[in-house]
Amino acid sequence: MDRVETLSETAAVGTPDDMQRLWVPHRMVYVQDHHQPDRSDCPFCAAPARSDEDALIVARGETAYVLLNLFPYNTGHMLVCPYRHISQYDEATPEEVAEIGALTQTAMRVAREVLGCEGFNLGMNQGQIAGAGIAAHLHQHIVPRWASDANFFPIIAKTKALPQLLGDVRASIAAAWPVDPGPAA
Ligand SMILES: [Zn+2]
Repeated sequence: MDRVETLSETAAVGTPDDMQRLWVPHRMVYVQDHHQPDRSDCPFCAAPARSDEDALIVARGETAYVLLNLFPYNTGHMLVCPYRHISQYDEATPEEVAEIGALTQTAMRVAREVLGCEGFNLGMNQGQIAGAGIAAHLHQHIVPRWASDANFFPIIAKTKALPQLLGDVRASIAAAWPVDPGPAA
């Protein structure tokens, strides 16, 4: 917890912000000129082939996996992605839907335990028009929330120390992740 508290203190040096920023995220740097990746250059297709540390992956299931958002809205911001390169939630198989749900539940429990968060925003942006940074590959956001966090989202996203912090957060969450996350895994 000491490390997490330090994160909050660092991040808290911010300016007040509007909650709408939650769902109008900074566009990921590898999505340029509204280009949407196909399978060959999709970061969510490429991540599972890399090491957990490298790709910021915290857990791997059978049909879906969980990684930290490289551009988090808040500390511990996770994404649950199917391995398949599908765009829409209604393209997911029943198995993928079940496992995305089970991984989301586990991520919430782990985030409460590791980060001590008090609430969550959960959601999927479907399509660029709805704010999806990488609309081509389905991903569910899990954004931990604290009572006083609205003030420091923009600073978290801009701080130069972020990659190091993300590595620390990833290690903490991965270490607390249960070996068997549920019946869907
Ligand atoms: Zn993909």
